Amino acid sequence: MRFLIAEDDFATRRLMQKYLSDYGNCDIAVNGIEAVEAFRLSLDEFNPYDLIYLDIMMSRMDGSKALQEIRKIELERNIEYSNYVKVIITTACEDSKNIIGSFREGCEAYLVKPIDRKKLIREMAKLGLIVLFN
Ligand SMILES: [Mg+2]
Repeated sequence: MRFLIAEDDFATRRLMQKYLSDYGNCDIAVNGIEAVEAFRLSLDEFNPYDLIYLDIMMSRMDGSKALQEIRKIELERNIEYSNYVKVIITTACEDSKNIIGSFREGCEAYLVKPIDRKKLIREMAKLGLIVLFN
């Protein structure tokens, strides 16, 4: 599996990378601009991501804007909806406006920080990316 972790906090990033490396390879972006760039590159190289973890609060370009850009690129490139990259928003803010906004922009799931291994794995299972045997 191929992951992109877009996260501006070093400690969170490192933790997520550690947990996810059991399931595949992780690329890292430290802001929204890099996240969009990484996504575009993955398409150009015919090596798309299976899952993007996208932090909302990031410098230069936030996660909401990055998600909009990613969906725009998919639309422009005539990618079939069923092949759209799965996006899980990660954020510290649990307010409903934020959550509803993220779903409207096209994310599949929403994780409230602090992130732990259980949360990460449970969401991947919910999206059908992995199967849990317990
Ligand atoms: Mg952040």
